[in-house]
Amino acid sequence: MEEKCLCGPTEILIFPCSGGSNVGQIANGASIKLTQNGMGKFFCLAGIGGHVSGMIESTKAGKMLVAIDGCPVACAKKTMEHAGFNIDEYVQVTDLGIEKNPDLNPNLSDVKKVANYLSTRISKRSGI
Ligand code: SF4
Repeated sequence: MEEKCLCGPTEILIFPCSGGSNVGQIANGASIKLTQNGMGKFFCLAGIGGHVSGMIESTKAGKMLVAIDGCPVACAKKTMEHAGFNIDEYVQVTDLGIEKNPDLNPNLSDVKKVANYLSTRISKRSGI
């Protein structure tokens, strides 16, 4: 049987790239949706990039780290790794068949698609 960490939603931290494209904003929207659905807590990737000590400490205390990147440039993943964090769950929006474009208004069904994908994976791992 797969081992489960039994994290609560506040111990699951979600870091979207929140980039300047449809897929970056879909990553952002999916993080909001996951947070609103009690699947984790939207956290500030910029604080990690800026090595803000309080944010780094809060992240160290997290039980599960989730990163969402819009595209293969993988800014969220690289930022987390640069700060020394290993990501537990990860997705690139473009890997789910969503094409990158400059539209900053995220398509709601695409946001749902990414949130649903991660919801299943987070549930499996955490048991929530
Ligand atoms: S991963 Fe892609 S969409 Fe996200 S910030 Fe980087 S370049 Fe932009």
